Amino acid sequence: MPPVRHHTAIFSAGPTRARRLKPEELRPIKNKVDEDGNPLPCALCKIKIDYKNVRLLSQFISNDTGMIYGRRITGLCGHKQKELTKAIRRARTMGFMPYTYKYPEYLNDPKPF
Ligand SMILES: [Zn+2]
Repeated sequence: MPPVRHHTAIFSAGPTRARRLKPEELRPIKNKVDEDGNPLPCALCKIKIDYKNVRLLSQFISNDTGMIYGRRITGLCGHKQKELTKAIRRARTMGFMPYTYKYPEYLNDPKPF
């Protein structure tokens, strides 16, 4: 009888090395300032975040797990990301929003990032 493998991935032996990037991966990072050097506003900079606006808050959580997306995914500025996280936590604590899923009527809303 063959040995039972618990993992489907087979890891190669040997020292791990940083992968050499391919040329198409060496593109410049997203420019966060305009031509004049002023910082570009994020998606929520002009919008007031309210904990009762569940539809807006639901655009920043995962469809299946309800996880709040991080700043690297949402692309928000630090100020608004913190405000958003606080608003989602408050809405969940007060019962406006579920913890572990997204309301089905909001599943087809566009992602703002
Ligand atoms: Zn912002």
